[in-house]
Amino acid sequence: MARCEVCGNDYGMTFEVHAQGAVHVFDCFSCAIHRMAPICEHCRVQIIGQGVEVDGHWYCGAHCARAEGRAGITDKV
Ligand SMILES: [Zn+2]
Ligand SMILES: [Zn+2]
Repeated sequence: MARCEVCGNDYGMTFEVHAQGAVHVFDCFSCAIHRMAPICEHCRVQIIGQGVEVDGHWYCGAHCARAEGRAGITDKV
C-alpha cells in the first residue's frame, strides 16, 4: 500500500516509477504523466511520446523544435 504523490489516493495497486535516481509512486498513469511528462517549450503540451530533446530543452516534435529556432531537427521515424 502506498499513496499517490500527485492526488494522494491511498490505493492498493500503486506502482513505482524510477527516474534519475528518484522513486515516484502513482496510482494511475494519468497521475504519472502529470508529474513526469516534460512540457514542450514551444506549445506547452505535455510530451507523452518520445518527444525531441535538444541541448536539454524538450519539444513535442520537430515542428516545435524548429519553431524555436533549432535548425536541422527532423522527426524520428
Ligand atoms: Zn494519483
Ligand atoms: Zn510542441
